[in-house]
Amino acid sequence: MSPPVNSIPAPSAGVTVGSLLRGNDLPRLERTLLLAHVLNVNRESVLAHPETGLSQEVVEQFSSLLRRRLAGEPIAYLVGSREFYGLNLRITPDVLIPRPATELLVEAALRRLPESSPSRVLDLGTGSGAVAIAIAKYRPHLQIDALDVADAAVALAAANARMLSVSNVRFYRSNWYSTCAERFYDVIVSNPPYISAADPHLSEGDLRFEPRMALTPGADGLAAIRSIVAGAASRLAPGGWLLFEHGYDQAERCRDLMAEAGFVAIATLRDLAGIERVCEGWIPVGSVKADF
Ligand code: GLN
Repeated sequence: MSPPVNSIPAPSAGVTVGSLLRGNDLPRLERTLLLAHVLNVNRESVLAHPETGLSQEVVEQFSSLLRRRLAGEPIAYLVGSREFYGLNLRITPDVLIPRPATELLVEAALRRLPESSPSRVLDLGTGSGAVAIAIAKYRPHLQIDALDVADAAVALAAANARMLSVSNVRFYRSNWYSTCAERFYDVIVSNPPYISAADPHLSEGDLRFEPRMALTPGADGLAAIRSIVAGAASRLAPGGWLLFEHGYDQAERCRDLMAEAGFVAIATLRDLAGIERVCEGWIPVGSVKADF
């Protein structure tokens, strides 16, 4: 008989936690996350008890996840969750996996949202609800509307809010501003699809498994941002801010779009990797160019 081809020991071989964490095909952190998921415990407990023996069923479930991971499926979809801004969110293949870079958008929005005054916030293309829920957690007095065109995203985002005891966000289906509830918002945020249709990254890594609609609006990647900027001026209260995430090479075009739409104090913010990632600006009284 030939030896087994993968690094998973045979189920009957007295397999321990420690033995499943070894293997150079996948980073130890990813093996730890997969095993923690199968055992339904947190990462720390997995690492604390490497000598724990595992049942055949656990080893088989782990092997199956490991095979799927080695075939490219994102960890967040395999374990059904991802941490964002200190919150553990449920994640399914219906939504974009929240990225660390998007925490910048939350931080920037929080800077524009007073600690206590009753502002209204709109999150366009909420996906898992990550951005809206993170803002809601830190500004519990605010009323937030979070919209997405995909029913499955709206349902998941609402479930995430319930799970995290967030009750100041309303989630509903809308194609950008099409069914916006309020007449005016104080802050509009969005992490829209912005990757250009021809970008080879779309066929690499996690992106292959994520909803295409959440990644790219097609063509040059700016269609969604154009709609968001064009519609924002007429839906922001005077002095209201628009903040959105964009691609690594789109900062200048985003600032131009903001200027054309009447925004002032337009700025680009860099993420932790030093990449231009978020555009922000506010709308002064009387400069509104409505798109109604
Ligand atoms: N920043 C993500 C990526 O490049 C894309 C997210 C988005 O399109 N909003 O992987």
